[in-house]
Amino acid sequence: MKHRWPDAYQVIEILENAGFEAYVVGGAVRDFIRNVHANDVDVTTNATPNEVKQLFDRTIDVGIEHGTVLVILSETIEVTTFRSEDTYTDFRRPDKVMFVRSLEEDLQRRDFTMNAMALTKSDELIDYFGGRKDIENKRIRAVGDPQKRFSEDALRMLRAIRFSAQLDFSLHKDTLEAIQTLHHLIEHVSIERVKVELEKIWTSNNVEKGMHLFVSSRLANNFPGDWETFINKWGNFNYFENRANGWAFFSLMQPSEDINSLLNFYKCSNAEKLHVKHVLSAVEKLKKGPWTKQDFYQFNEEVLIVSSLYAASIFTIHIPYTMDEILQLKKAIPISSSSDIVVNGNDLMNWKQQKRGPWIKEVLNELTIAIINGQVKNERKQIKEWFFREFINGNLKP
Ligand code: ATP
Ligand code: MG
Repeated sequence: MKHRWPDAYQVIEILENAGFEAYVVGGAVRDFIRNVHANDVDVTTNATPNEVKQLFDRTIDVGIEHGTVLVILSETIEVTTFRSEDTYTDFRRPDKVMFVRSLEEDLQRRDFTMNAMALTKSDELIDYFGGRKDIENKRIRAVGDPQKRFSEDALRMLRAIRFSAQLDFSLHKDTLEAIQTLHHLIEHVSIERVKVELEKIWTSNNVEKGMHLFVSSRLANNFPGDWETFINKWGNFNYFENRANGWAFFSLMQPSEDINSLLNFYKCSNAEKLHVKHVLSAVEKLKKGPWTKQDFYQFNEEVLIVSSLYAASIFTIHIPYTMDEILQLKKAIPISSSSDIVVNGNDLMNWKQQKRGPWIKEVLNELTIAIINGQVKNERKQIKEWFFREFINGNLKP
């Protein structure tokens, strides 16, 4: 029989033949019950990491102390030893884990019933906490007492909301109430992890649902930013194509003097900050009128598209173009950066018989603008003519 996850099943078979227990576990089982394709398949076993390593030729230690070994077959399978999590200090995941010998204890430490099931090699479902029923009811429910579980690891509160956006599930009443009570504990979680979860909500199919829950659960209270307006201004676009667009949308709702410190607070990368800066600038320009050819040159396609969407949805600005027209206008710009220009500084020096100096940069800037605006074609002969004409007319200073 051809297995659904051939590599994971091979790992299980080898472990079982060596006398250990092994199961598919976590997200893959959840996705199997939901009847959707699982991206990565995790295996759990009572073999210790060292025992696992002895059974396979190629393994990578990624977190021996957490019990995890990667086994490399044609795919890479994460194999984790049954464990329970020891003491929780600081409302964060524990640094210490204890290996345990029973599957049930391992499943018990997992966050939600839908994530706390295991599957044997012959597709027998092991479901101690009613995960299958919760999936059928499209419901996210903490394993055990939600207050206790969220006090152990506060990130779970945000994970609940992220899963609800990704899966279009609701939160079980007790689970939601526990978040509403303990929301402030999220402050103990590193902002990097919070950022990852927020971005997963923004790139899900149910951004609106996720962000509503983020606010109604009060988790949002613990993070700077105008989250109410975020929801209210949410347009009819279903998802942000990339994460940086989420930060751009978020930034458009904030007073401009705060944006940089906000993006720093969330530890956005320089690339993300630059993207946001471009979107804000493109939207500002649209408030005053249509974009110029120079604007089309300066901003990349993605900035142009999302800026027009956001300007329309947040500021109800009339956008004078369709999406296709924006793309066409962008394409019509003859160069995409100054390195596309067919002449360079050496050409200018030869033509003018003048040494290198700041004048070259100035001329190239003028030339870029002239090419963008269609006053001169990006061809050597035309550029040379333009160059001498501009000097004679006094538009360029020697
Ligand atoms: P995804 O599709 O997002 O990868 P996943 O369910 O595989 O979903 P992971 O973050 O990869 O989620 O974690 C794998 C499994 O580990 C989860 O299904 C869950 O059983 C367990 N888990 C992960 N994070 C936690 C946590 N903070 N607390 C308890 N259990 C967790
Ligand atoms: Mg996973």
